[in-house]
Amino acid sequence: MNIILLGPPGAGKGTQAQRLVEAHGMRQLSTGDMLRAAVKAGTPVGLQAKAVMERGELVSDEIVSALIGEELDAMGPGTGAIFDGYPRTAAQAASLDAILGARGRTLDHVIELDVDEDALVERICGRYTCANCGKGYHDKFEQPRIPGVCDKCGSTEFKRRPDDNEETVRTRMAEYRAKTAPILPIYEERGIVSRVNGMADIDHVTAAIEKILKD
Ligand code: ADP
Ligand code: ADP
Ligand code: ZN
Repeated sequence: MNIILLGPPGAGKGTQAQRLVEAHGMRQLSTGDMLRAAVKAGTPVGLQAKAVMERGELVSDEIVSALIGEELDAMGPGTGAIFDGYPRTAAQAASLDAILGARGRTLDHVIELDVDEDALVERICGRYTCANCGKGYHDKFEQPRIPGVCDKCGSTEFKRRPDDNEETVRTRMAEYRAKTAPILPIYEERGIVSRVNGMADIDHVTAAIEKILKD
């Protein structure tokens, strides 16, 4: 199974992708995570992407589509893919079709997380992750069971993203509205889009997604 999680920054794509990975052994392909790894490693891609990401603008279609192709090639053919934060433009949607087709994969579901924009700034400004395993948390909405200790790996180190500030979030939302939301009709025509209420609490969103995957 290959699915896309679509929604603006802070909609809950990464949170839900991590749960699907745990429950089904699928693989999360997050272009944001790949780009942050490239920035950290100081690769040519990272050097190019860093300032763009800090501004909250989109990195070039060529770069992100190449990253996705490489990640898919590193996966077993039987492992399902969860695309998180990709595609974000019509050009990326077209590339994804080609990338999947070349590997004998098909797209089964596009799950749109429907959220109020007003909630997103609060979600993003309270977001942090485990510095060791990457599990996502939120100051208010998803705290570790033991304060300061990661539920998944026991690490006591956490980090926040430099682009998770109100100003950048506004730019990222505008980019989503202008370039990403318009790709939905491509998938609607194929009859593979399902809409989930992303304002429900995290467990409810997971249950709604699981229901779609079972149908
Ligand atoms: P995205 O990957 O779409 O940018 P995340 O999954 O990182 O979004 O979620 C953004 C923040 O909001 C995280 O801190 C996460 O813990 C929190 N969050 C995710 N889903 C929900 C939800 N349904 N209700 C409340 N907070 C949520
Ligand atoms: P969020 O889901 O919170 O918006 P991501 O981690 O998906 O954040 O993306 C962080 C940043 O990385 C984006 O603001 C953008 O600069 C870049 N990026 C990630 N994925 C893509 C993509 N598919 N196309 C272009 N830029 C991307
Ligand atoms: Zn951890």
